[in-house]
Amino acid sequence: MQCAERDGNSGFVYLVGAGPGDPSLLTLKGKEAIGKADVLVYDRLVSERLLDFAKPGCEFVYVGKHPTNHAVPQHAINELLVEKAQTGAVVVRLKGGDPFVFGRGGEEADALREHGIPFAIVPGVTSAIAAPAYAGIPVTHRSAASSFTVITGHEHADKDESSIPWEQVANLRGTLVFLMGMDNLPLIVGKLLEHGMDGATPAAVVHRGTWACQKTVCATLASIEDKVAEQGIENPSVIVVGQVAALHERLGWFEERPLFGKTVIVTRARHQLSALAAKLEELGAQVIECPLIEITPPSDPHALGDAVENIGRYRWLVFTSANGVDAFFAEARAQGKDARILSGLDIAVIGTGTEAALARFGITQVMVPEEFCAEGLVALLAPKVNAGERVLVARAEAARDVLVSMLQAQGADVDDVAAYATREARGCGEALVRALQSETVDAITFTSSSTVRSLVGCLGADAALIEDAALFSIGPITSQTMRDFGLEPRGQASTYTIDGLVEAIVASLGGVR
Ligand code: SAH
Repeated sequence: MQCAERDGNSGFVYLVGAGPGDPSLLTLKGKEAIGKADVLVYDRLVSERLLDFAKPGCEFVYVGKHPTNHAVPQHAINELLVEKAQTGAVVVRLKGGDPFVFGRGGEEADALREHGIPFAIVPGVTSAIAAPAYAGIPVTHRSAASSFTVITGHEHADKDESSIPWEQVANLRGTLVFLMGMDNLPLIVGKLLEHGMDGATPAAVVHRGTWACQKTVCATLASIEDKVAEQGIENPSVIVVGQVAALHERLGWFEERPLFGKTVIVTRARHQLSALAAKLEELGAQVIECPLIEITPPSDPHALGDAVENIGRYRWLVFTSANGVDAFFAEARAQGKDARILSGLDIAVIGTGTEAALARFGITQVMVPEEFCAEGLVALLAPKVNAGERVLVARAEAARDVLVSMLQAQGADVDDVAAYATREARGCGEALVRALQSETVDAITFTSSSTVRSLVGCLGADAALIEDAALFSIGPITSQTMRDFGLEPRGQASTYTIDGLVEAIVASLGGVR
């Protein structure tokens, strides 16, 4: 349902809660609003991944605040929202967590109302609840807490009269959640103890809850300060005080995932990165996406055009990658054709990833070898392809010729057609070197020989930067290419697929916690 919507050419402002960090915790309504934005005004605690939902040409304005360094004062943010909306723009003000939970969203809404600018509020998942949840701490629990109170910890110690009724707070018996409280942790602990709270009450601090770098410290009210200092925990963190804090030990889950705390670089072509990245993130890894290769048309695009046009002359069609499938169907579409041109052909693919790519075009009856490599395909096809039968192999330019030469040795009449080419992605070196210099990278994944060649090319003289990272390969051919460049894989997928690659990483790096 659409509520307060845009009216003619006047501007409109959405105050959107971005959630606590994990980009998947943005609401659907928030995502929709970002997609409509002409101007997006965002904060420091907002995941930059959310900016990807904006439409092309959207203007981004960073107004990130740091507790000690107010980059842009609140009144200036209010004015900015008003000014932008007055130009007729759709403005999204993207704020960490929920916009109305210590987010100063109320002040922004006031300014908009004052200037007659229509707005909508899109609530977000607040860190007050989500950070504890990702630490396995339910803010209420039937047997431990029947209320929770969210309190600012940002009060100055020298304030004459506290706006926080410490006496009542210390005696609420429910869960206390403090935001913005790290600098004042001694004051908070002191006030609670002073007003009679038991020093043995469980307490926890969750730093950067829901981010891949989340850290949870559990102690008692009396010892939490020391423990936090020991672990060097700072803002942004939520402080949880109450019986439920002890449940972290039993219900903690996020930090227990097998790749939690590991940083992995994935190197595929941009359009293929996300599937691998999502699987690794699901397992807890922090993923840095470095698209090292780009898929481009082959140097001779006519060969594929000709093969598609004359597809009827073939008995067999063989694909060795999802990119080959995509290129083939793009060409068919350009010729005004669809999947029906494949009726009557026998189709073989190199592995399950390619099989899945074909399924997207409605082609599900294909042959898949037991071993997902060229040799596996030859073993599958050798007994089936008769001498003189015509075979179309649609694959990458400059691919290995094992498949073609072995099929030819069987007496097959093979057309080896370059459906696409791969090349080093432009600018990939800088992104890669920046990532390697600024993070401790635990692992780098290679999904093809071309990703290995591209990495070596991109790094150039900076090759030493990857010395400490564990390198993982999707299969024996990629591993061989790595060795040719003097890189030893730490692990190799046992089934030559993305899932196999992920399994190899978990087997090698997945710590038992
Ligand atoms: N509107 C936000 C809170 C803004 S105040 C919300 O609803 O979450 C900023 C404070 O929120 C920080 O000082 C910290 O206490 C808390 N915070 C925000 N994101 C956090 C996160 N990912 N993990 C822990 N605390 C967080």
